[in-house]
Amino acid sequence: MTAPLIDPFARAITYLRVSVTDRCDFRCVYCMSENMTFLPKKELLTLEELDRMCSSFIHMGVQKLRITGGEPLVRRGIMTFFRSMTRHLESGALKELTVTTNGSQLEKYAQDLFDAGVRRINISMDTIDEKKFADITRWGRLPQVMRGIDAAQKAGLKIKINAVALKGFNEDELPTITEWCADRGMDLTWIEVMPMGDLGNEDRFGQYWSLKDVRKAYEDHYQVTDLAESTGGPARYVRLEQTGQKIGFITPMSHNFCESCNRVRLTCTGELYTCLGQEGMQDLRPAMRQQPDNDEALEQAIRAAIGLKPKGHDFDYSRQRADGQMSRHMSHTGG
Ligand code: SAM
Ligand code: SF4
Repeated sequence: MTAPLIDPFARAITYLRVSVTDRCDFRCVYCMSENMTFLPKKELLTLEELDRMCSSFIHMGVQKLRITGGEPLVRRGIMTFFRSMTRHLESGALKELTVTTNGSQLEKYAQDLFDAGVRRINISMDTIDEKKFADITRWGRLPQVMRGIDAAQKAGLKIKINAVALKGFNEDELPTITEWCADRGMDLTWIEVMPMGDLGNEDRFGQYWSLKDVRKAYEDHYQVTDLAESTGGPARYVRLEQTGQKIGFITPMSHNFCESCNRVRLTCTGELYTCLGQEGMQDLRPAMRQQPDNDEALEQAIRAAIGLKPKGHDFDYSRQRADGQMSRHMSHTGG
């Protein structure tokens, strides 16, 4: 292995999130508009190029790889890519291969994911009410996702549910979702809604349900204990004493977690975003294509990009509007 990736603020970069497609079979209201224009398919990195990119990062010390999107499991041939990453798990260089999915394709792919070496997955779900699920995802259908969850658990995959906390939408479901997760042995994390993409007619600030308030809502129902553990990311955890469950809170706005940030994001076109909350990115594609048979230029470009990783982000709701708002959609950088 070459020298590890260390950014200018002495943070080791060990976690890469890769968006393998900008497309999705859902249209969640906070993520996409109903009529999205997606990238022409020829703009996407091929599966072989995705392999080269990821392998270079792993060669430079990345130990955790999360595949996301858009909806990663709608990318044609994506299981070939997952299987190609198995060799890095087998060599020990990669410690974890995982995926964030809306669950729609899990019935088909859960076993293949497990066979490729995936052990834990995140499934995004904001409600377990069929009608509300159809409303928030526009195109999603809850029974299909529930069958996916069954298939994933049958295959032996450990599941974490990620729910976006939305005021007036899933506030009242907090105990039901929590107990449903406890019954099925799934972890649960709440995410604050972020001002990403084009707000359009969606009133993002009106939907903002602060995780401080979500935590307070837990205290109305359970005895809550703060846990000290951190994963180098924006999640903080509590334990519910009655159920023993660990509940996560991802608070990109109301908490400053940047000092321990260990991650960067690669888009499906080969752009490297070193901070979710900043526009700055480096296009790694030219360096990769310049030398089809060796990864020297690519690795140099990666190192140069990490050298530009900013100290932190600028999201701020405190001025009663979505300051620091980003023009790109979450489906582009992969959440
Ligand atoms: N399609 C997959 C899924 O839904 O899990 C992976 C990509 S999706 C963009 C990744 C995560 O971003 C999901 O958990 C989703 O809820 C979250 N997300 C999308 N838009 C968001 C926003 N505006 N604020 C907070 N989270 C958002
Ligand atoms: Fe698709 Fe995930 Fe965005 Fe929903 S959050 S529209 S499932 S990419």
